[in-house]
Amino acid sequence: MDVPKVAPRSAAIELAGLLDSPEIAGLVRELEATRWTGRPGYPIRAMVGMALAKSMYAIPTWTRTARLVAEHAALATALGCAESTPSEWACYRFAAKLRAYKPLLDACIVAVLDRLREANPGMGESIAIDGSDLPAYANGQRFVSKNGRERAASEYSDPDASWGHRSAVSTRKGGGYYGYKVHAAVDTLTGLPMAWTVETAKDAETTFALGLLDTVRERGFAVRNAIMDKGYDNGPIHDGCMDRGVCPVTPLRQTGRVKAGDANAPTCEHGDRTFAGTDYKRQATKWRCPTGECKPKSTWVKADRMHPLIPRHTERSRKLYSSRGAVEREFGRLKHEWAMLPLRVRGLDRVRLHADLTILAKLGCALRKARAT
Ligand SMILES: [Zn+2]
Repeated sequence: MDVPKVAPRSAAIELAGLLDSPEIAGLVRELEATRWTGRPGYPIRAMVGMALAKSMYAIPTWTRTARLVAEHAALATALGCAESTPSEWACYRFAAKLRAYKPLLDACIVAVLDRLREANPGMGESIAIDGSDLPAYANGQRFVSKNGRERAASEYSDPDASWGHRSAVSTRKGGGYYGYKVHAAVDTLTGLPMAWTVETAKDAETTFALGLLDTVRERGFAVRNAIMDKGYDNGPIHDGCMDRGVCPVTPLRQTGRVKAGDANAPTCEHGDRTFAGTDYKRQATKWRCPTGECKPKSTWVKADRMHPLIPRHTERSRKLYSSRGAVEREFGRLKHEWAMLPLRVRGLDRVRLHADLTILAKLGCALRKARAT
């Protein structure tokens, strides 16, 4: 993808607008205050602009980003570096600086999310959590030769990556891949990512769900529902959500207890009891005797994975679950429209920075759009 998807003039206006937004300008100031000077001294604003341009125009490498800016005077002017545009090497050095000053980048992301929350009341109330594959920029041959031994981690060009598994999606076959996984919590209302982490591919997705939930909450969002696929349906995640005052919404995984009938509606001598409401404070659901003959008529069931606060058979559960697609759609957009893929960096820290910058560019543009309306 050598060609930017928009004409350089409007691209330049968009980029300058993003750089001058209070949140990104704040990041530039903070980075300037660290008194780091990039050889040969490009302005920090220009370097942040290079980083954002890379995602905004879906360019996989610094080399191509540097070339694009060098070839388009309007972009170079927008970045404030018309006399001499940054080289790919300046970009690499700047990326190293951003990794070293990750807390400043994180603070900028939080500031952008703050403003987005103000612009979108209800943002973060329901979040969808999932993980998605990021194949490494590396030799991914699992075996050293046909019928040969399995390659050791040190023999890959990216030893931080590992073998993971991805599920089949529409026409793509599932199977093993070598690389990383991005785990994210996406707001189902706006479709925007609110917390994310990149991990090596072999780590199970379920490990990161509660951490993502904590990050979304720390970022000031009042989360009420966490929507996840069947893979996340386990006791610790259910109870962890409950501890945080969040209702988990997942399909039921067919475990031994489920097969034994533990997830069925509670019964009385008159048959299956019917669901009669949820008490969120008590963290329990109410189930009524089908004939009303029992005294008392209703019984309370403390919430657990078998009987969540939003029972799986209800319309509310179905509706919430149908909004889970938001997270998969966002992974698709980030990968294909914002150049989260293909990875052209190696090592966990560099892949993490790449994901952070990709998502910051995306969120920054979403905020600009929200401000314009
Ligand atoms: Zn009864």
